[in-house]
Amino acid sequence: MSKFIGYRCSVCETEYGTDEVTYTCPKDGGNLDVILDYEAIKKLSVDDLILKDEPSLWRYLPLLPVPDPGGKATTLRAAGWTPVFSPAPLAEKLGLRHLYIKDESGNPTASFKDRASAVLMARAREIDAEIVVTASTGNAGAALAGMAAAVGHKAVIFAPKTAPPAKIAQLQIFGAKVLLVDGNYDAAFDLSVQASQEFGWYCRNTGYNPFTAEGKKTAAFEIWEQVIRDQILDIRDSIPNIQYPLSIFVSVGDGNIISGIHKGFKDLLELGLIESMPRIFGVQSTESSAIANAFNAGTEEIKPVSATTRADSISVDMPRDGLRALRAATQTGGAYITVPDDEIIAAIAELGKVGIFAEPAGATSYAGLVKAVNDGLIGPDDPVVVMNTGSGLKDVKAAMQAAGEAPIIEPTLEAVRRLL
Ligand SMILES: *Cc1c(COP(=O)(O)O)cnc(C)c1O
Ligand SMILES: [Zn+2]
Repeated sequence: MSKFIGYRCSVCETEYGTDEVTYTCPKDGGNLDVILDYEAIKKLSVDDLILKDEPSLWRYLPLLPVPDPGGKATTLRAAGWTPVFSPAPLAEKLGLRHLYIKDESGNPTASFKDRASAVLMARAREIDAEIVVTASTGNAGAALAGMAAAVGHKAVIFAPKTAPPAKIAQLQIFGAKVLLVDGNYDAAFDLSVQASQEFGWYCRNTGYNPFTAEGKKTAAFEIWEQVIRDQILDIRDSIPNIQYPLSIFVSVGDGNIISGIHKGFKDLLELGLIESMPRIFGVQSTESSAIANAFNAGTEEIKPVSATTRADSISVDMPRDGLRALRAATQTGGAYITVPDDEIIAAIAELGKVGIFAEPAGATSYAGLVKAVNDGLIGPDDPVVVMNTGSGLKDVKAAMQAAGEAPIIEPTLEAVRRLL
C-alpha cells in the first residue's frame, strides 16, 4: 500500500526503483527526489489526506514515503505541526499587511531538523537499520540522536568540535556516540560518509539521504493549511483583486530545508491542492554564501566558499543540496538574499521583542526579509511567511550578544530607582 514508488535524480533525471539505490545518483552523485504514486494519492479526498486529529507531521502520513513508525508516545511522533504567529509590531515596523512567522523552536529537540529525523527514523525502522549516523553542525545530530533514543536505536554523530556547547550537550544526553571532529562541518560530513560505508551504518546526512527532504516538506503542507488555506484565501475573497502569491523566507546552509519546502509545494501542485507556487526566498550569511553567489551569477554551478559565519547551523563551505536549493528560488520567482552577521544578531533581538527566541541561523531568514523590504523585493501587500528554524537556547552566547548585559544591583530600592 506504500505510495513510495522510486527516485529521480535532480541532475540527470534518471529514475530508480525503491530498492536500486539508497543515497545519491550512482552516475553523477546528484540528490534524488522521492517519487510518490500521485495517481493513487489523487483518489483520496482531502479529508483522507490529512489526519486532522494528529497534531504532528504524521497528520500527512498518506503523503509520506514511510509507514507509520508506531510507538504512539515517543518524541518521534511529536515533530512538526508548529505554530504560526502574526506579530503586529514587526509587521507595522516593516510596513507589511500580512506577516506570519512559523516557529520551529517548539519541536521536540528544538529545531526544524526534527522533521527530517522523524521521517528518517521511520525509514530506518522499515529497513531494519539498527545504527544510524549523521554529520551535523549540531541540530541534525541532536534531532537524530533524540529520535533514535526514543525508539531504542543507536546513533553516531560527527560534529565539528566548534559546535555550540548546548548542542553538544544535547547529543550527549540523548546517549549518542558523539565524535567531535577537529575540522569544519564539511570535514565531518566526508568522514561520516566514509564511516557509514565502512561500518554499514544508515546515514542521515543532509543533501545525501533522500528521506530528509521528505520530512522537511511537511512544513510546506502546514504552511498550506495554516496560512494559505486559513488566511490568504480569506484575504483574497475579501479583496478579489489581490493576486499576490505568498512569499516564504528560509535560512539556507546545505540547502535541504528550502529544497524540502519546495518539494512539499510541488506535491501540493501535482495533487491539485494549490493553483500556483508560492515564491521561495533563500537567505544566507554573507560569510557563507555559496548558493547566493550562484544565484547572483545566474548559473547552476555552485562553487565552494570558506564559510566563517557566526550562524553555525548555516556555516557550510560546499552545500550538499545546492542545486535543488537554487532551483527552489529560480523556479518559483523567489531570490537569494545575503545578510551580514551583525544583521543576523540584530534579528535575534527583533524577534525576541515579540516573544520568539531564535538561534542565529533561525533569525537569518528574518534578517533577509528586512533586507528584501528595504530593497523593494517585497511590497506592503505581499503576504510573507518567515521560518524560525531553531531555538535561541541552542546558542546562548549569540543571544547574550544580541541582548547585551543585564545590570547587577545592590539589593536596595534605591538601586532600583536609579535604574528606572
Ligand atoms: C540546518 C539548519 C538550517 C539550514 O538548513 P539547510 O538544510 O542546511 O539549508 C537553518 N537553520 C537551522 C536552525 C538549522 O539547524
Ligand atoms: Zn544523476
